[in-house]
Parts: sequence; C-alpha cells; structure tokens
Amino acid sequence: MVYDTIIGQERSIAILKRAWTGGKLAHAYLFDGIEGCGKRKTALALVQSVFCSDDKGEGCGRCPSCNKVATLQHPDLHLIEPDGAFIKIDQVRELQREMAFRPFEAPRKACIIDNADRLNPAAGNALLKTLEEPPGNALIILITANPGGVLPTIISRCQRLQFQAIPQPALEDYLIGQGTPPETAGIASALAGGSLKKALEVSSETVLQERQSLLQRMLSLSLDNIASLFAAAEELAADKEKAQEMLELITTLLRDMLFLRQGSGDISNRDLLPLLEQGAARFTAASLMTLIEQVATTRRALFRNVNTRLALEVMFMRLAEA
Ligand SMILES: [Zn+2]
Repeated sequence: MVYDTIIGQERSIAILKRAWTGGKLAHAYLFDGIEGCGKRKTALALVQSVFCSDDKGEGCGRCPSCNKVATLQHPDLHLIEPDGAFIKIDQVRELQREMAFRPFEAPRKACIIDNADRLNPAAGNALLKTLEEPPGNALIILITANPGGVLPTIISRCQRLQFQAIPQPALEDYLIGQGTPPETAGIASALAGGSLKKALEVSSETVLQERQSLLQRMLSLSLDNIASLFAAAEELAADKEKAQEMLELITTLLRDMLFLRQGSGDISNRDLLPLLEQGAARFTAASLMTLIEQVATTRRALFRNVNTRLALEVMFMRLAEA
C-alpha cells in the first residue's frame, strides 16, 4: 500500500486516509514541513489513492494507474515546480488550461504545486480562482517548506496539514534497513534534523569524511596564518550551496563541543569524540555560544546573497581568534 514507505508522518497520513474514506477530502491542501520530510511522497500517495481503482482506502501501489502517478507519467496528474527562481504566471495559466479538460483516465484531475512559496505574486493571484473553484472536482496539493513565503490569500483557501520533522529513531531504523552501517546511521540520523533527504546525504562517505577534515581545520585555524584563513574562505565560497551545508555541519560541531564542555555526552558527531574534546578544551562555553551565533549570522548573510567570500572570511577570523 502506498503510504507504507513514508516514515514519521503517521498523523498527517491518518488525517488524509480518514478524509478520503469518509468522503471528506478537501479540494485544496497545503502540506508544510521541513525539506525532505516526506511531503511530496505523501502528496503522490494521496493522488494514487484517489486515482486507484482498488477499493481499500489507499492506492495499491501496483496497478498501472499507481505506477503512472509514481513516475509522474499519469495524464491526469499535473506537477508544477519553479521554472528558475519562481513559479511563473504562464505555468499557472497552462495548468488552468489543462484542468479545464475532462480527465482522461482518472475519476478526476489532480495537481501538485511543489515549492508553492516560490509562486511569484502574479502567479499566486492567478491561482486564487482555481483554488476557490477547482474545475471538475480536481484535487490540488500545494507543498512548501517555507509557509511564510506563501500568500495568505492562498493559505486561507487550502486545508493546511503540518508535517513533522521525522523522529531520529525512525530515521536511524530506516537507514539501517537500507543497509547503512549502524554507526553511520546513528550519526546521520542525529545530524539530519528530521529530514530523510538530509540523513541520506550525510550518510554518504564523502560527507562523513568532510566533517572530520572540517573539524581538524577549525581547530587549526590561527590568526598567525591569515593566508590559510582566507584560503579556507575562498574554497568554501566557490559553491554557495555547499557553503550552506558546511555551515550547518560547523554548527553541529560547535554545539557538540558546547555540550562536552558542559559535561553532557549527548553529542551528534559521536565518531569524532577525541577531536571534539580537543575543541571543547580550547574554547570557553561563552566563546562557543558566540561562535554558534556568528555561524548563524553568516548563514543568514549567504541566504541574502551578500558577498559570500567576505562573510566567510569574517567567520573564520572569529573562529581563529576565539
Ligand atoms: Zn493502484
């Protein structure tokens, strides 16, 4: 059955199942929750359930209809995603044209709008009418990890379903079930912040090694060697997305050092304990807290598209002088 492969979202799934079997499905939903927690998978499972001829309350996951939805090949399922930075009004108009037709195979049409916070204002306003009166009983599912970026007029026309961060034990079990070694699964699930996507990324060999060299580098930074500080900043600045990832890892490393300093063994990067203890001995609790704040400031700065290299240089200098 189609919901079985989704982990950690029992509550949302129960609500959707109840609505569907009770004939009370809303015509427009907004799924919100952090990236990688299963929103899109759940949206597809809901569409499968609505389209599937199997009468068990959810999609069977095996019939041609379920397969076509899973592979996004179903003629009655329309998926909209940002084209570049935004979802544009032309995409919404195209969708509205498609929705005006009768469904080809399914009992009704369905549409998933992923990253709904990226609807530009014109596109968002154009969508309002469709949300109010979806043609032919169509099902519309909007997905976002950033509900603050969705027009309030859109939110008010949808039934909102909040997805939870996936609990760490569920992530850990899942990774182990996929063949990840238990130690790696423990670390990756602790660093994932409730996101399966992130847990899978972190459990790759490269990220695990990167963490170690990042920590070694942090501990050896020194104001006596400005050239190496700037080299570190330049290297990270070359890839903005990567820089965000690294900053997130730095935060978990600093947080672990802070925990160790305060005598707590509840750390995420358990395999790096000896190095983390070195760090905990080097920094004071106050400077670790300042550094965590500094990294957060740097992340916000990168998000706002300021000079990446400069922001990183400042951060590394703070790390070196702490
Ligand atoms: Zn089916």
